[in-house]
Amino acid sequence: MCGIVAYIGYREACPIILKGLHRLEYRGYDSAGVALLNGDLNVYKKKGKVAELEAFIAEKDTRAQVGMGHTRWATHGEPNDSNAHPHYSTSERIAIIHNGIIENYAALKQHLQQQGHVFHSDTDTEVFVNLIEEIQKQNNCTLEEAVRLALHEVVGAYAIVVLSRDEPNQLIAARKGSPLVIGVGKDEYFLASDATPIIEYTNEVVYVNDYEIVVIKDGQLDIRSKEDVQQTPYIQKLEMALDSIEKGGYEHFMLKEIFEQPRSILDSMRGRLELEAGHLNMGGIRAYERKFVNADRIIIVACGTSWHAGLVAEYLLEDLARIPVEVEYASEFRYRNPIITERDIVIAISQSGETADTLAAIELAKSKGATIFGICNVVGSSIARATDAGAYTHAGPEIGVASTKAFTAQVTVLTLLAMIVGHKRGTLSDTRLRELMVELSSIPAKVEKALLLNDEIELIAETFKDVPNFLYLGRGYNFPVALEGALKLKEISYIHAEGYPAAEMKHGPIALIDENMPVVVIATKDSSYEKVVSNIQEVKARKGRIIAVVTEGDTVIPAMAEFVIEVPLTSEVLVPLVSVVPLQLLSYHIAVLRGCNVDQPRNLAKSVTVE
Ligand code: GLU
Repeated sequence: MCGIVAYIGYREACPIILKGLHRLEYRGYDSAGVALLNGDLNVYKKKGKVAELEAFIAEKDTRAQVGMGHTRWATHGEPNDSNAHPHYSTSERIAIIHNGIIENYAALKQHLQQQGHVFHSDTDTEVFVNLIEEIQKQNNCTLEEAVRLALHEVVGAYAIVVLSRDEPNQLIAARKGSPLVIGVGKDEYFLASDATPIIEYTNEVVYVNDYEIVVIKDGQLDIRSKEDVQQTPYIQKLEMALDSIEKGGYEHFMLKEIFEQPRSILDSMRGRLELEAGHLNMGGIRAYERKFVNADRIIIVACGTSWHAGLVAEYLLEDLARIPVEVEYASEFRYRNPIITERDIVIAISQSGETADTLAAIELAKSKGATIFGICNVVGSSIARATDAGAYTHAGPEIGVASTKAFTAQVTVLTLLAMIVGHKRGTLSDTRLRELMVELSSIPAKVEKALLLNDEIELIAETFKDVPNFLYLGRGYNFPVALEGALKLKEISYIHAEGYPAAEMKHGPIALIDENMPVVVIATKDSSYEKVVSNIQEVKARKGRIIAVVTEGDTVIPAMAEFVIEVPLTSEVLVPLVSVVPLQLLSYHIAVLRGCNVDQPRNLAKSVTVE
């Protein structure tokens, strides 16, 4: 998510910062800005590309040896000039850039407004800088002290850099949950979200840890804990090539994004699942709660991977909230004169929020009076604007064309939605809700564990990389996962693959099975486990080559399958979030071994803005 660059030293800061922002463009962003400190504290920011920012400041006086820049990936407030970072405090004496999400921003904002602070954006970030200003005023303390105290008040994730007109030769930064690296030069320092903007100036870096505050003042670097205890900076020498740093050390964006899932799933729950307080919140449905509770039916419209997330949601919403659900391909729905009433809710799912067919399906449903709820990753996208309400997935920019982390984030948000609606409708008891909340919060750790299978899966990929066909089978919650596994393989390796409900195999695909056919069976321990075991027997009887995704400790299936992939035990309704991970890795490794362009597969576009 987003990019941060800052400089303090003896050179002109602005060109270094702009070049750094260009280097961070690969991360995806929607607007860019800089703040320069040279007696004055000037902020310049623009929606759009860094090049647009450059054109905007071309005529301005940008001389300064201290400054910071930001590329924003909107989470709170649509991408526009005023929501772009940096943000000033009310007095315009302090400015901030921020990567992350401040979960308790609404309560803080209300309090700060009562104290007379004025806001010019819809962001959570502007609350942070005003909080710092207010604390400084109340305590009559240094900026450093005010930042430290503010960090005790904010809940959420952040990497921040703060500049103050009143303390001109100083740069303050802090992190919790969002990345931040310091570049240590001779009489100069750099700060950035990763090392790419830094590497051409110095290869000595310090990775800032969570809960640390960095103060660079009068040429000295000081790192302290939130409790104000001085830390010894651990300076590392970077030996990495630039493009591998851009991908976080991964060979491809897709792999990076697969590995980001523990974090992106957590981000999609951030501020929504409050385990200790026992709350679930989803701002987007608050005003439509009664509609959801009284809905006759929910229709889900989506395309591709998002459609698979929709299928998982069908199981979830019917299971937990007992509302009938239909899942439709947006492209079919929009042209087939569907029956839609005012008591229907239409949920539109799209990573980009720009999918042309999904947008058209929304317009159709709207014209019939349905309530439209959007689930998108890109803030301020067309779908987010066209819907009555919605929830963002907060997975961060997804660059790889084959969707991975956006899928698990969509499923997480849909799970939360089903839990909230089920609880409100009385179909999900307090006890079951509590159990599911505990289970859901354990998912990032389980996904982390599933990612440890990477090497093992690479070996399996080696065995099957040259086959022409694959079959994927699953039942219940794992049926959409089978479809998603097959789609991933098709998309990036160009191997023909089909996903089927395991029991449907007998009605056709079984004819394809012989000793050359690899069959991936998702057979985790759940209510259909015994049935899936029988389906495996049927494949085995016809000499199919079985790759089984099973629950850790399964003793039955390993005796039948050629390869077994063990994932952690997960509650049945949440299993797709874990069982899909090995399938993403399998398709990734097969594609790499076949020499395919994993991040930009042929004929595919990341966001399908034409029908
Ligand atoms: N939550 C902040 C915003 O929406 C920061 C987003 C980012 O990380 O770029 O402005």
